[in-house]
Amino acid sequence: MNDQWYYQPQTIGTPETIGPLTFNQMVDHVLRRKLKKKDLVHSPTATGNQWIYANQTPIIEAAVKKAKEARKESQKPTTPQVKPERPSPPDPKTRSFEDGWYVFDGENQHGPVSDSDFKIQIEKGWIHSRCHVLHLRQTGGQWQRSFGRKTLLAMLPYELQEKKTCPYCAELILKHSIKCKHCGEFLAKSSRVGSPVQSSSGDFSRKPIGAIGVMIGILVTLSAFGMKTTVSTGSGNAVHNIGLQQQQMMLLVIGVAIGVIGIYLFTKD
Ligand SMILES: [Zn+2]
Repeated sequence: MNDQWYYQPQTIGTPETIGPLTFNQMVDHVLRRKLKKKDLVHSPTATGNQWIYANQTPIIEAAVKKAKEARKESQKPTTPQVKPERPSPPDPKTRSFEDGWYVFDGENQHGPVSDSDFKIQIEKGWIHSRCHVLHLRQTGGQWQRSFGRKTLLAMLPYELQEKKTCPYCAELILKHSIKCKHCGEFLAKSSRVGSPVQSSSGDFSRKPIGAIGVMIGILVTLSAFGMKTTVSTGSGNAVHNIGLQQQQMMLLVIGVAIGVIGIYLFTKD
């Protein structure tokens, strides 16, 4: 008697009551999709004429979830998909290669190209990080994995590499140099170069915040002066209210304080 479940399919017309059913039978009805989410369910613990939606019954919800997982499991492919292996570049030792640059992108092999043509190909983004690169004269028949533009450009002969002038001694150095080979100074990302940049960016945000602070300070101070601190008594006389006067004083102090901080931030270098 304790395991009597009923449900009413939400169909148009007079609802039909199905039951009594055991819990296992109810689950079976869910799995066979006879009992749906929006159907009304009467559980054994329900009192009187208490019907609730199936998806509001935790025990039924759990059964629905289980059914969905079982369905997903059965739809899974039994054999794992085999990833096609990327072909390897041809062995330079077994085939006749002329000196120069070669690029292998997994399907096609380009080359030989000259240093300057290779540089153009890097700059146009034709050579990506998944390519194999071979410089026959230098690497002696070994393909290398290319790791993007920066690495590829660094593989070029010195004359073709990107350059800049050292900010300390004005000598020409490689663009991605960390240390100048002429004067020995450290370049990008060192603390010496980084610190002045940081303080100048601080100035940019401090000024507007200071200006806003001054304006807010003035507004708060003015509103404190405009505040009414008197209350009218029953007999028609106006008297000062100590509480309101204290509030006015407080507002005045806050307004002046914000204004002073604002001025400080605005004028500080
Ligand atoms: Zn230098």
